Amino acid sequence: MSLSNYRSGFVTLLGRPNVGKSTLLNKLIGEKITITSPIAQTTRNKLKGILTTKNGQIIFVDTPGVHKPHHRLGEILVKNAKSATDGVDVVIFVIDSSEEPGRGDEYILNFLISNKTEFIVVLNKWDLVSKEFRNLRIEQYRRLLGINRTFQIVSASNGEGCPELVDMLLTFLPEGPKLYDEEMICDQPLDNLLSDLVREQVLINTREEVPHSVAVKIEKIEEMQRKNGKTFTAILATIIVERSTQKGILIGKQGSMLKIIGQSARSNMSKLIDGPVHLELFVKVVPNWRKKVSRLVEFGYEEDF
Ligand code: GDP
Ligand code: MG
Repeated sequence: MSLSNYRSGFVTLLGRPNVGKSTLLNKLIGEKITITSPIAQTTRNKLKGILTTKNGQIIFVDTPGVHKPHHRLGEILVKNAKSATDGVDVVIFVIDSSEEPGRGDEYILNFLISNKTEFIVVLNKWDLVSKEFRNLRIEQYRRLLGINRTFQIVSASNGEGCPELVDMLLTFLPEGPKLYDEEMICDQPLDNLLSDLVREQVLINTREEVPHSVAVKIEKIEEMQRKNGKTFTAILATIIVERSTQKGILIGKQGSMLKIIGQSARSNMSKLIDGPVHLELFVKVVPNWRKKVSRLVEFGYEEDF
């Protein structure tokens, strides 16, 4: 394929939780800007990543997964996912091909079709499909998607199929100039990225014991100087939970859990910022924060997209 003129535009990643949207975005952009974890619903905020190639510029918007709402937080997640399809040039509908087609994918597919959204399908996690099942799996998804639907097979974790996906995406974008500087890879406020790095470690280290009722607020980011003149970034963050039992789990025996969370988060922060970081973590109980809209906004979950 050859594109004679430069192209630029917006692309949304949409799909059930845990299908690999954030991993795919990271792979395409080539830098860890969005958190990934084996636990569903890690990504709560919209997140853009920018890919600049010699043929075009793609601005990616990562979204929370589409799922049926249970409480207010869920409603907002779904609303964001739906509004993320508005005004973009093309949507990537990401599917976990290591599993058979299910109702969740059908739900999203029907939403995209009825919404008349322009979309391409990505069958991700292909590395997990054993060779003898591959033909069958493609047949199963052809049946779900319809014979004429184009799809790209990828493995976000090893990059297989990603260059082909980028080429395919560019054909959907209008001709146009670069919309962002080449050096820019992300337009998220630093606060959101930093708080996500803490939340990622909370989810990884506590698993089901501290469910999704956790938020992280960055209270302070400050450039400081050591006696020897070297600078570092001091970050103060509060982890908000709903119950005091969860606070206990998060702190752990003599602070052991909080220490593990803090060390890993700090190391990732320091990669993101590209410099030394001093991180201080506090845990606070705010009962029912997920049900209070004012709290949702305070902790960064804005309804407005
Ligand atoms: P999201 O909720 O859709 O953003 O999913 P994540 O990107 O957080 O990925 C969920 C889990 O699937 C993580 O443990 C990833 O490492 C894993 N994963 C994502 N893509 C692939 C893939 O192509 N192959 C394999 N084996 N695992 C993947
Ligand atoms: Mg994600």
